[in-house]
Amino acid sequence: MDGGLLLRAHTKNFATVPKKEFLLLLNLTKEKATDWIIENRNTSMALILEKLLERPKGLAATELMQECKTTRSPLQTLLTRKWIRKEEKPEFDLSQEEFFPSREKKLNEEQTECLAKIQKSLTEKQFAAHLIHGVTGSGKTEVYLQAIQMALAEGRSAILLVPEIALTSQTIERFRARFQERIAVWHHRRSLGERTLAWEDLRQGKARVVIGARSAIFCPAQNVGLIIVDEEHDTSYKQSDEAPCYNGRDVAVMRAHLEGATILLGSATPSLESRYNADTGKYILSTLRTRATSASLPSIQIVDMKREFEIAGMFTHFSSPLIDALKKRCEIGEQALIFLNRRGYHRHQMCAACREVVKCPHCDLGLTFHKSNNHLRCHLCDFCREVPRSCPTCGARETLQFKGFGTEHVERSLHALLPGIRTLRMDRDTTRKKDDAEDLYRQFKAHKADVLIGTQMIAKGFHFPAVTLVGILAADAALSIPDFRAGETVFQLITQVAGRAGRSELPGEVILQTFLPEHPLIHLAAQQNYEGFYAQEIAERKLFNYPPFCRIIKITCFGTDEKETENSARALHAQIDSAKIPDIELLSVVPAAHAKVKDQYRFQFVIKAQKIVALKNILHSLSSKIRFKIDVDPVSTFF
Ligand code: ADP
Ligand code: ZN
Repeated sequence: MDGGLLLRAHTKNFATVPKKEFLLLLNLTKEKATDWIIENRNTSMALILEKLLERPKGLAATELMQECKTTRSPLQTLLTRKWIRKEEKPEFDLSQEEFFPSREKKLNEEQTECLAKIQKSLTEKQFAAHLIHGVTGSGKTEVYLQAIQMALAEGRSAILLVPEIALTSQTIERFRARFQERIAVWHHRRSLGERTLAWEDLRQGKARVVIGARSAIFCPAQNVGLIIVDEEHDTSYKQSDEAPCYNGRDVAVMRAHLEGATILLGSATPSLESRYNADTGKYILSTLRTRATSASLPSIQIVDMKREFEIAGMFTHFSSPLIDALKKRCEIGEQALIFLNRRGYHRHQMCAACREVVKCPHCDLGLTFHKSNNHLRCHLCDFCREVPRSCPTCGARETLQFKGFGTEHVERSLHALLPGIRTLRMDRDTTRKKDDAEDLYRQFKAHKADVLIGTQMIAKGFHFPAVTLVGILAADAALSIPDFRAGETVFQLITQVAGRAGRSELPGEVILQTFLPEHPLIHLAAQQNYEGFYAQEIAERKLFNYPPFCRIIKITCFGTDEKETENSARALHAQIDSAKIPDIELLSVVPAAHAKVKDQYRFQFVIKAQKIVALKNILHSLSSKIRFKIDVDPVSTFF
């Protein structure tokens, strides 16, 4: 440990009579600071500003001087210029954990075995792909950390991709705390200046570790020895909404291949494709079956909501086992998560006379009622309107009824049911600003609430030690989506959410509410039986010829005129059909699941092929007059 870190740990742990401590913070906007840093690189003042950019919560002057290896005078100049400011250190510092340097953990047997295989690949300096299938909390991240250490020791650099939502300062800090190196952070929410700095650091080899969301795979890290894709199954790695459509994970495998690097794909619920690649020997599989700490995996109880309705005689969000469990948690001061994958208050408004829902004028989607602003909002384009009094379709009065529920409704109901309960809600509505999600996370972790209600935002990556109960409402809803990945998505989501429970000493409990208690997939998920799930799902994929047994290409046409767009799609379809390519299956043209988005109509068709190369020529020759998008290996054939 270097002196700075020792000092930090020391002052944190053992300072007995706290003198007034001051922190230094950046007093410029990020943009101004980065512009100046770029102009004045490598000066002491630039180094200090850079460090403070990395540490938005500030640093003590002594620490800052040590880390930047400077004297007091540049600090003084910056203070005089008012580019940095002093603040009294808060007594209770929620971010404390971030300041501790972390040491390597002694790996358990499974981790050791896994790391040994990785080390072998690293020393061979040839492309090798590893799939780390480890249950939630099994210590995958610890394996990543030590693998990165090995790559660095060999003078090579490492790229770590994490899902967008998991790219929090908690994650970044966990890596910063381990390596005495500059770490570049890469994602689209960072300002252009910040990205320029990171880019330069990587290009010049000043930073040898980069953490980022999917686009970080394109960063100019030098001499890459190791690439890690955490939660490799996560759909946020896929860019589908704009061209080029690519999957960051797949690009990562290709980049590793090109650079002769080792790639690690980690997940508690590997995608069928990756797991199949392990089965067929393309990937080296390591399995971590138990949690790394003394914590055990939570037990999952299935609750039949049809019966609950019968007993209650009415609709309810909360089954009696869930209410009891929530009450108990509040009494003993433990925390709970409630998961519902739909935001808003009511899903939509429907006319009892004509059965039409109130739709967005720009999109093919019913509007969602948001009670906090008392309006209807489109979840595709954010269009808002007041709640209509008469049906916009048939004009009938007093016939509009609210249908379906979202997180906002769940929160209100919970307060009605258990007055005094403290709740927080995390969904896209409560996290519109850049740091909102992180603020909510910190508040909950500091026990400012008993229950955190949220959409899939709460399912991933978060580590809340005091959470011992997870309630999953309507996790099966997505099973009815006509998409080949529906089952896989539901299984992954249940496993991920359930994995938030009981991550430290306190044992966890999960209550899974469903209308399909008999569904095999629900059972497999409740038993956290990935192998059973995989066996069943892969057999179905094979039977119906879906990935990984074929590749899929989805072609979508866009246009402001419905008929014209459909005709365009048909023209492309005909062109491909007439090429008579062997061994492909060309499915017919259909409107997309959302047939109109932001005033653009969408028609699509799907091609299944054994090999993509067979289609390369024809895809390149498609008419350039038509607006269309090609998505290879789409996340969904439906949306
Ligand atoms: P995952 O990434 O698989 O969800 P983590 O790496 O976050 O798991 O590990 C979960 C918890 O277990 C963390 O608190 C971590 O510090 C701890 N941990 C990991 N490996 C070990 C180990 N070998 N010994 C003790 N604790 C460990
Ligand atoms: Zn809309």
